[in-house]
Amino acid sequence: MKNSSADVNITKEEILKGLENREFRFFYQPMVTFATGEVSGAEALIRWIRPDGTIIPPDRFIPLAEEEGIITRITRAMIPVLEEDLGKILGQKQSLQISLNLSGKDIEQGEFCDYFVNEIREKALPAENLTVEITERTILNLDKTTRNFLVSLVSRGVRVAVDDFGIGFSSFDNLSILPLASLKIDQNIIRKAAFWAKALTILDHLVNLAHQLYLTSVAEGVENESMYRYLCQLGCDQMQGYLISPALPRDEFLRFIREETRVIGTNPLGGIYNAIVDHANLVRRIVSLLNYPNTLPDMSDLDHTRCGLGRWLHLADQVLNGNSQFEFLKVVHREFHEQAKFLVLAAHENKDRESLVQHASEMLKVSARVYDLLTSLFEEFVLKDLI
Ligand code: C2E
Ligand code: CA
Ligand code: CA
Repeated sequence: MKNSSADVNITKEEILKGLENREFRFFYQPMVTFATGEVSGAEALIRWIRPDGTIIPPDRFIPLAEEEGIITRITRAMIPVLEEDLGKILGQKQSLQISLNLSGKDIEQGEFCDYFVNEIREKALPAENLTVEITERTILNLDKTTRNFLVSLVSRGVRVAVDDFGIGFSSFDNLSILPLASLKIDQNIIRKAAFWAKALTILDHLVNLAHQLYLTSVAEGVENESMYRYLCQLGCDQMQGYLISPALPRDEFLRFIREETRVIGTNPLGGIYNAIVDHANLVRRIVSLLNYPNTLPDMSDLDHTRCGLGRWLHLADQVLNGNSQFEFLKVVHREFHEQAKFLVLAAHENKDRESLVQHASEMLKVSARVYDLLTSLFEEFVLKDLI
């Protein structure tokens, strides 16, 4: 296959003809989860493959299609293509998450939204494997149709990601009211961070912001190993970029996930750091809410699998299983949650001050052991990294 030369102008009529002839395909760019170092999904990226084998990239026709008002005809025509591809991809690995880009113009249209939700309702599109990407620019201009559409997707199990995050369009208010799952940090920020200290600080803050909002952070456009390692140590959750692979034709992507199980490897430092912060936050939240019994967490919120540390323990188990401090941490962490439940229950039951203090002190003792184990794991991996 050849890549197109950029100087040939494309027209609306050519795009429509190409659609009629089914010349559009998705290529799949692998996405890696840092905690395991494994491919956990892919982003579907459209390509126009002309009869002579020339591949036209999306930047050459998507903006024109949006301008000419035909983008939704393209998106609509690509859904059955995606459905067929997903059959093959998930047939090979059931747990993969596939991301689809939707244009702001698509989700403004009630008819398209109804069609899309219907495909999910009928299970032609598997909700639990699907992430919909909308750009930061789109979420700034949310109207009621769009918001209802996103809420209805999420209620059916689809994840929503904000694409190109951090380039200045998004409103923090929308970030808090929308049911988002992830923030994809714009490639320009990643690129600048490689040689500009201030951009690196911004990158740190974006990853932390995502984490504090319980969103998955995804770094795009990672091209070299030092950035990969940096992001991993920072506690970023996922990445995609030429370092791992460009977008691949479907069958090549299938081969890729068969052959590349661990891509570069992983370093748990970032995960441990996040776990320390999450644990500190949980303890602080429980203790500071003791004076406001109506706002205390539910018992189910205190389940050991639901807190940030618990979710990290589950994910990191694939890699750290067998490490003695890690195994011990799992046990002590459960014990912490038991003590936290006793304390919160005592507060719910309006027990006297003295017994609250007693329970709080028991919980804090176990919490101190959790920190000890987390910090010695942290030390262990800092030293390993330096050797
Ligand atoms: P995007 O959604 O931000 O997608 C990421 C783009 O970055 C892709 O370009 C991908 O190939 C490229 N990329 C990934 N890793 C690297 C890297 O390490 N270095 C560099 N330099 N680039 C990298 P692509 O496939 O050309 O897509 C461009 C844009 O076109 C996408 O940006 C998205 O906005 C749009 N697009 C692609 N497919 C679709 C689609 O199906 N529907 C709609 N509405 N838009 C699409
Ligand atoms: Ca995207
Ligand atoms: Ca992007």
